[in-house]
Amino acid sequence: MPYDYDPENIFAKIVRGEIPNDTVLETAHSLAFNDIGPQAPVHVLVIPKGPYVNWDHFVAAASADEVLDFARAIHGVVEAKGLEPGADGQGYRLIMNAGEAGVQEVQHLHVHILSGKTMGRMVCD
Ligand code: AMP
Repeated sequence: MPYDYDPENIFAKIVRGEIPNDTVLETAHSLAFNDIGPQAPVHVLVIPKGPYVNWDHFVAAASADEVLDFARAIHGVVEAKGLEPGADGQGYRLIMNAGEAGVQEVQHLHVHILSGKTMGRMVCD
């Protein structure tokens, strides 16, 4: 399936440095920054720097280096924020919305890392 990536989406502008972001972590192929409208005390977005619309596009078209880098960047945020699940009640939730049914707002792949409170139901109406 062809993926129609819009280079003018807001995360593409963040990657190009055209609009500011509150960076948490940066790697060779990925960038993590605080969500502008946090839904939990910790709400970080991790994106690949490459032009991928969603997860499906990414796994089909990205290099192995990019995929590994993205996975490790997510873990890097978890580690940097001290969110690893443990006896102290920490832990986190990863959310990756895709397409209309997933209600994906920004058409550049991103994973949400949410933590700092006990999460509610997994799916809200
Ligand atoms: P989604 O519905 O999965 O596409 O989520 C998009 C997320 O991007 C939302 O949680 C927004 O609050 C967040 N967002 C939109 N613009 C910005 C921005 N300039 N900086 C940081 N987060 C943003």
